[in-house]
Amino acid sequence: MPHEKVYPVPPQIAARAHIDAERYRTLYARSLQDPDGFWSEQAERFITWDRRWEQVCDWDFQRAHIRWFEGGRLNACVNCLDRHLDTRGDQTALIWESDDPAVSRRFTYRELHAQVCRLANVLKNHGIGKGDRVCIYLPMIPEAAVAMLACARIGAIHSVVFGGFSAEALRDRILDADCRLLITADEGLRGAKHVPLKANADQALSECPGIRTVLVVRRSGGEIGWTEGRDVWYHEAVAAASEDCPPESMEAEDPLFILYTSGSTGKPKGVLHTTGGYMVYAAMTHKYVFDYHDGEIYWCTADVGWVTGHTYLVYGPLANGAVTLMFEGVPTWPEPDRFWQVVDKHQVNIFYTAPTAIRALMRLGEDYVKRTSRRSLRILGTVGEPINPEAWEWYYHVVGEERCPIVDTWWQTETGGHMITPLPGATPLKPGSAAWPFFGVEAVILDDKGKEIEGPGEGVLAIKRAWPAQARTLYGNHQRFLETYFKPYPGYYFTGDGARRDEDGYFWITGRVDDVLNVSGHRLGTAEIESALVEHPAVAEAAVVGFPHDIKGQGIYVYVILKEGLQPSEELQRELIELVSRDIGPIAKPDVIQFARDLPKTRSGKIMRRILRKIAAGQIDDLGDTSTLADPSVVEELIHNRIQAG
Ligand code: ATP
Ligand code: MG
Repeated sequence: MPHEKVYPVPPQIAARAHIDAERYRTLYARSLQDPDGFWSEQAERFITWDRRWEQVCDWDFQRAHIRWFEGGRLNACVNCLDRHLDTRGDQTALIWESDDPAVSRRFTYRELHAQVCRLANVLKNHGIGKGDRVCIYLPMIPEAAVAMLACARIGAIHSVVFGGFSAEALRDRILDADCRLLITADEGLRGAKHVPLKANADQALSECPGIRTVLVVRRSGGEIGWTEGRDVWYHEAVAAASEDCPPESMEAEDPLFILYTSGSTGKPKGVLHTTGGYMVYAAMTHKYVFDYHDGEIYWCTADVGWVTGHTYLVYGPLANGAVTLMFEGVPTWPEPDRFWQVVDKHQVNIFYTAPTAIRALMRLGEDYVKRTSRRSLRILGTVGEPINPEAWEWYYHVVGEERCPIVDTWWQTETGGHMITPLPGATPLKPGSAAWPFFGVEAVILDDKGKEIEGPGEGVLAIKRAWPAQARTLYGNHQRFLETYFKPYPGYYFTGDGARRDEDGYFWITGRVDDVLNVSGHRLGTAEIESALVEHPAVAEAAVVGFPHDIKGQGIYVYVILKEGLQPSEELQRELIELVSRDIGPIAKPDVIQFARDLPKTRSGKIMRRILRKIAAGQIDDLGDTSTLADPSVVEELIHNRIQAG
């Protein structure tokens, strides 16, 4: 392996960490040996229950039957707000940094509670009750968190649809979940650009008869259409509503939310999460993975439209009484130092973002980072894609100044919370590795025949037992749930990702199983080849896919994005081919290199290799579902410049 550097736990982190190496080992062993005892204790420690559960866990992967804390009752909103009022009612719960760098706002736990109760009453006044689905299509404004919590308070099931999605994508999700009410805004603001949310919603709703009410937040004040009898101004409705709204006591297994996966691989799936297990796991992982200490300022940059925005922007931090920061804007506006300016402005201690953002900022150079202080930072995190060691090192050295451990958290919409991740005070870090399984997570690697590989080895990543935040079904389609996740390898939850485990038990995610290449009978992970390419100083980003090859079975097609201001050349092409041969082996030598301006990404910033594969194979008439694509013009350009392969 090119990168086998190990960064030990910094002493100043170890000294006050909740979990050190010793404690990780004992607790992890116990979590597998005595799961009922272990999870009972966590459920008591992290969550306030109206009634105690009768059975900790009941699961059967053959039927995809998963139940936690049955018989228990609780309310997620109470756990995030009400129970903190006596002890920290006047502490900041939410810091909102708006798109405009001059504007930010703070909400105490008491203020947030009052807003949530008002909106919950508005929902009730419009006929929404327990079990009804509410669609939330909002920008990154406080009302997004308020809306989620208001639903949770009355037992309604929220389905947040990312504000960057189109009218069609919104329509499909509203119909799939059969939503009754929509909460949206006039327009979103991102990098001073206006996003026409209400106009999109109007278009979507022309085909969604189930939506009877639309609550509209006034954000930009721009011109919008209005449907009398259906559309209601949010601010008018909440101003007229009472602040008194008793919470609904929910069964542990009552649904909390539906969330559609990002769509990197195909038709979106409506993942359903329930209340008890999810809340226990959200709170526990937030505290231990970020080593959160009371009073610290915690910032997760993910949009509320993704699972990271659910678990680690709203539910996890608020359950722990944390200070959580929500950012409306983009990392490059007004200038590419915005993240670090916000860190300094609000004295952020813990910062959690995605590799795509790190790579984009790295491409623009260190100067934007170095002109800020960042002294407040203590812990850094990443999620969403494998982070190449090159980007990891940059994050670690340039952003964190070698002081901040990086938690590279592997998990999925379907897992509800972190599954494989370092813990800041316990895990020596290897750049590019998500390290060890979290408590209670029995992660295994399976070979082609579905047999577990003991010790070091590479194959398919699967999970051998249920964990509390596991998705319970796909909304309205249990059969698809069963077939997607439990049928491929009977007895296991199939993640769809490949992984390698090294001699020290560290997991390295090699990419999605669908993306694994088979070149002359050799299985090659895309993540590894991409990491090798990104090591070249000229390369900002790379994506690798296979294409049909007469001799090798599959050939290797590489898309390369260069750093700002650099031009492609034949020499560079040769250097890249050599670099991959040297780092990984001659078998991984690229057949084709296409230099490009950008890569097709999902709206959450992930590379859509599915589309790149089609382009490489020349199947440009049949690109599949492209509704989650962030910028369709990128695809046009790639097709135009595609290189005939094979
Ligand atoms: P879809 O399932 O619709 O294709 P998606 O898988 O991109 O969309 P998410 O649930 O948001 O939707 O993403 C989970 C996936 O992201 C994981 O299965 C994995 O492929 C990738 N991923 C997330 N975190 C990491 C990480 N730390 N390292 C490597 N890969 C990661
Ligand atoms: Mg997925």
